[in-house]
Amino acid sequence: MSDPSKILEARDVTTGYGNNEIVHQVSLQVNDGESVCIIGPNGAGKSTVLKSLTGYLACWEGEIHLNGEDVTDVSTEDLVGRGLSIVPQGNTMFPQMTVQEHLDMGAWLIDDEEKRENTEWLLDLFPRVEERLDQKVKTMSGGEQQMVSIARALISDPDILVLDEPSLGLAPSLVDTIFELLRTVQDAGLSILMVEQNAVKALKNTDRGYVIEMGSVRFAEESRELLDDDEVQQLYLGG
Ligand code: ADP
Repeated sequence: MSDPSKILEARDVTTGYGNNEIVHQVSLQVNDGESVCIIGPNGAGKSTVLKSLTGYLACWEGEIHLNGEDVTDVSTEDLVGRGLSIVPQGNTMFPQMTVQEHLDMGAWLIDDEEKRENTEWLLDLFPRVEERLDQKVKTMSGGEQQMVSIARALISDPDILVLDEPSLGLAPSLVDTIFELLRTVQDAGLSILMVEQNAVKALKNTDRGYVIEMGSVRFAEESRELLDDDEVQQLYLGG
């Protein structure tokens, strides 16, 4: 049975690389309008979970549902067409290209009319992007480039934004700016799923969190409860 309030759901997903099983029967869900983080130690399998949810890595067992439909075997490209947009890890910008050209890339699946409408919506949401449409990405700071990466993912007007370590490599002050930006995105009605190494920041800026350890879900709670949990603090938040 599918539940319309669940935008994205993993049911007992098992996957890995070659013969090496990395993720063991992981279940998680992102509800409509919710922001959810996946945290846990380095090498725990967080990015691997994300790869299976976004069609980069096949599920060995289990199911993935997007907007109530079984998308377990759907490609990344088709997932984008069904309302899931991805902000990949690290700098995936093209230095010589302008902000507008990056937005055009993000709009490859939609027609001109939709692109016009979505651009209007996006620039309303992110006025700082509008000021910089003609600027080449190579002249922008790391935080600004991350903003463009998020804008590129939003131009297709997705239901859910999936981010792999949005704060990676950013100065602490810019990390806050990116989380504020994601709050704006959530306030606009989107759901958000992120993997974050910066566990404290992630928990402070999301509704719910999953702690993954050795490829399994160890804790699944509201983020503020995870922040207050002694065991979680000792094990994953540096005491
Ligand atoms: P996390 O995101 O929690 O740091 P990852 O999902 O990146 O963890 O990695 C989990 C495990 O999977 C690690 O042991 C890592 O070495 C292994 N792994 C990650 N990517 C690959 C790959 N492309 N091929 C083989 N093993 C990989």
